[in-house]
Amino acid sequence: MLLNEKQLSLVDKQIKRLIKSDSFYGKKYRELGITECKNQDDFDKIPFSCKDDLRFAYPLGIQAVDDSEIVRIHSSSGTTGRPVIIPYTKKDVDDWATMFARCYETAGVTKEDRVQITPGYGLWTAGIGFQAGCEKLGAMAVPMGPGNTDKQLTMMMDLKSTVLCATSSYALLLSEEITRRGIRDQIFLKKGVIGSERWSEKMRNTIKKNLGIKLYDIYGLTEIYGPGIGISCDAENGMHYWDDYVYIEIIDPETGKRVPDGEPGEIVITTLVKEGAPLLRFRTHDLSRIIPGECSCGSKFPRLDIIQGRSDDMFKIHGVNMFPSQIEGILGMVDGVGSEYRIILARDVDTHKDVLHITAEAEGRVDFGKTAQTIAKLAKSKLGVTPHVAIAPVGTLARSEKKTRRVEDQRDQ
Ligand code: ZN
Repeated sequence: MLLNEKQLSLVDKQIKRLIKSDSFYGKKYRELGITECKNQDDFDKIPFSCKDDLRFAYPLGIQAVDDSEIVRIHSSSGTTGRPVIIPYTKKDVDDWATMFARCYETAGVTKEDRVQITPGYGLWTAGIGFQAGCEKLGAMAVPMGPGNTDKQLTMMMDLKSTVLCATSSYALLLSEEITRRGIRDQIFLKKGVIGSERWSEKMRNTIKKNLGIKLYDIYGLTEIYGPGIGISCDAENGMHYWDDYVYIEIIDPETGKRVPDGEPGEIVITTLVKEGAPLLRFRTHDLSRIIPGECSCGSKFPRLDIIQGRSDDMFKIHGVNMFPSQIEGILGMVDGVGSEYRIILARDVDTHKDVLHITAEAEGRVDFGKTAQTIAKLAKSKLGVTPHVAIAPVGTLARSEKKTRRVEDQRDQ
């Protein structure tokens, strides 16, 4: 999706504001001779920004306004090295709440609702984002924060909470606990607003079944306000994002080239009106695609598909980008096949062609030969690639507590 006129003029303003400031990006753009953004070509010359820049500029090097204008900071967790600090102006905080209120509205939340907020408060952007949006909308916030399941359930019953905001794993835990305690008839939840990370269809269905609620995926990241820049709607076909606040492009993570709408790649976000720490062309490493066309729900806001994983997990086969989640999707369609799998990418030395090997696990009751054929046929019709498929009994593939490395590329060896 290319920038529209309004977005172009907002990016142009951002650049002019940045180069007047002494901020990290102000200096960088001055050095690169970037002075304006009048058309898509100008925009494409703006270098990508990334989390490493923000770490380098720690603590407040990316701040683009006077100290007197900053009202709050947030920080993203520094699992690797320095954390990242994002300063917000009053307008930034307000804009974020407006976007978040729009998310709740898209999910059909109204002033009558009681919203139980279980994500964490503090430096992290989650809890306070959910709360500010809720207050902006006019619903009742129940600011629980994470943990303490007993108290969560007591409040949920006593206050008759109608909306649950949670990570997918905590929503699952609560739903299982409600089932185990047999208190479903004392729970009044109608909707769940779930922080968007990649979560399996199986998990989603378990939460839906246990609680009998509708689920909405909310998207965002601390570097770009926080959660609330987009959310899925009742059409359950992608997440609408607020293109009056952010411009989103999808790039091939290897070449950095923008891909056409509909094609998968890495989400790159440009903040259009952010003041405290504007970011242009920020690489999120989240994988998705822009869903072309208008949504059946009637909203005119563009859509991103739900997050398909991280760009580090993507691989290329016959020159086409593919995610492990696409393989998972196919395995999930076959009877008796488990969720554990391995992918090995090899090269046929005679034909110089890529070869995709999939090893999946299946239950003992199914015919392994036929199951392998079914997977291969589905891959051919859905992904256009015919893999070599091997089936092993459930429990054969190694499990690891840490993130399991499921894709191995042997083509460069
Ligand atoms: Zn929609």
